[in-house]
Amino acid sequence: MAPTGDTSIALLGSTGSIGTQTLEVVRAERDRYRIVSLAAWRSVDLLVAQANEFRPDAVAIIDPSLRSEVVARLPDGIEVLAGESALAELPQRADVTVNAVVGFAGLPVTVATLEAGKRLALANKESLIAGGPVVQPLRSTPGAELIPVDSEHCAIHQCLRSGVTDANGCTERVDRLVLTASGGPFRGRTKSDLESVSLQEALNHPTWSMGPKITVDSSTLMNKGLEVIEAHELFGVDYDDIEVVVHPQSIVHSMVDFSDGTTIAQLSMPDMRLPIGYALAYPDRIATAFGRIDWANVGRLDFEAPDTETFPCLGLAYAAGRMGGSAPAWLNAANEVAVQAFLDSKLSWVGIAEVLEECLEQHDGTKATSIEVVVDVDRRSREVATSIVNSRG
Ligand code: MG
Repeated sequence: MAPTGDTSIALLGSTGSIGTQTLEVVRAERDRYRIVSLAAWRSVDLLVAQANEFRPDAVAIIDPSLRSEVVARLPDGIEVLAGESALAELPQRADVTVNAVVGFAGLPVTVATLEAGKRLALANKESLIAGGPVVQPLRSTPGAELIPVDSEHCAIHQCLRSGVTDANGCTERVDRLVLTASGGPFRGRTKSDLESVSLQEALNHPTWSMGPKITVDSSTLMNKGLEVIEAHELFGVDYDDIEVVVHPQSIVHSMVDFSDGTTIAQLSMPDMRLPIGYALAYPDRIATAFGRIDWANVGRLDFEAPDTETFPCLGLAYAAGRMGGSAPAWLNAANEVAVQAFLDSKLSWVGIAEVLEECLEQHDGTKATSIEVVVDVDRRSREVATSIVNSRG
């Protein structure tokens, strides 16, 4: 039976890891949430199955060549949109949009949702990282709200609620944000250990089950680097005041240090349904407990400094963040190319950071003044990164 709740949700990127987990949250909270649209790139089978269960008003298939197949397989009464224009159209028709699109392709969803003055549950960190300079002004659109669906940023969002808020809604008395990192599958390994690691090893994440792109990003610590930029964009904290600490158990999801020496942390088992539910319900909370800790059996919680020699991507992300302007967009695009080359077995794991370092040196300092400029920077960086990957043979 389709959910019947009052809050309408557009779920864009419904067939990926965050998309399917969002539907698990909605399934558990049927009296509260209703899926009004679903969008997927080309996973027709799963999209049709989801539409049959949740009975949205509209479904979008982004690859337009698949439209007729989707139309033929859906029950009557569900509108079918096709092409990337759907990503800007569907957020206007829902109370909350969950942006679960993978990579830079999620930028139009972020822009459209904020422009429509709606709540954005943002799982697509790339749109904020690459598009920061153009996304930031849209956050002040009346009614617009950006709630992160990234476990670390969800944690910080919760920790900041125990701080002091000034008249402009800015949080005062924050000394430092501390992002935790699991360390990924290669924690404790040395650079020479990692010369010949396989794709399978990189995809074997110790604590989180996620899609392939973000799992590779976790293995290089680029995911954490991008999250440092994301935290800077979301919370307006200087890079000097954002620290990364490795915490292999992934139970402390991040922390905030306040001026009086207090640290507030958010803890739960690693379960993305918690940040998804938080972003949907904020400032309330959902009734279903995802990620509840069994304290008697939790064991120990360890913390250590990241190994920035073995994992240079973390430093590259800080560098791009401090450069500002379009440098994060440039780095993000190059990273998407390098990770895809690794997934396609065209680049070694250590090659990812080497390509990114070389590519970042070629960033020309363009200011990100409009979406068109950001899209152009993204395109040019992909060209440069692709030629670096190809030149390595
Ligand atoms: Mg995260």
